[in-house]
Amino acid sequence: MSSQSPIPWFDDFIGVAYRYYDLRMNVVPLFSERKKAAKLWLDTIHRWLDHSIKIRFVENDDKYWFIMGADSQNNQTNLSFFKLLAKSENYERFKKGHGGEAYLRLGVYSDKFLEDVKRDAICNCGHSAEDHDKNDNDSCLYEICNCKKFKSFQVNLLKKKKTVTDILFLEEKNVKDDPLAWNCLNVNKYSKIK
Ligand SMILES: [Zn+2]
Ligand SMILES: [Zn+2]
Repeated sequence: MSSQSPIPWFDDFIGVAYRYYDLRMNVVPLFSERKKAAKLWLDTIHRWLDHSIKIRFVENDDKYWFIMGADSQNNQTNLSFFKLLAKSENYERFKKGHGGEAYLRLGVYSDKFLEDVKRDAICNCGHSAEDHDKNDNDSCLYEICNCKKFKSFQVNLLKKKKTVTDILFLEEKNVKDDPLAWNCLNVNKYSKIK
């Protein structure tokens, strides 16, 4: 099998969120800028043929490769997506609950600091905003906690969506059975180990 993909691989996004929204699970590649996400949707994903969209998850210990590609009505602007990510609770929930299909949406990820949130917002340290001290650099008031500054995040989903019905979870040792996943790892992993 050739290791050359005619479709460029793209990994210039932050990560992937998994959310229930509109009754189906959503797979949400995340961007820091709304403009960039909207342009990528218009140029690339909007032109994908829904039934051809494939999402592959290739697991390796506590990490996984997120891999996504499709046939496009415009090959010039087509891209395939990949990202090596750490397994998370939301990922595991998606794996168990997707039922063979999902909506694909893009999302905008933003950091939130103490001045941006309500009192009951939860910090990455697990404690709420009101347990952080404005007069001490927004650090956490719990003595057992080593959080030095309140930080949380927000994900906004863009409205446009595509339905994905071709979703597979693979072990890395079986990756050769799947052309898209095999191509991805070949180009982005194996050919880089010299
Ligand atoms: Zn804390
Ligand atoms: Zn905190």
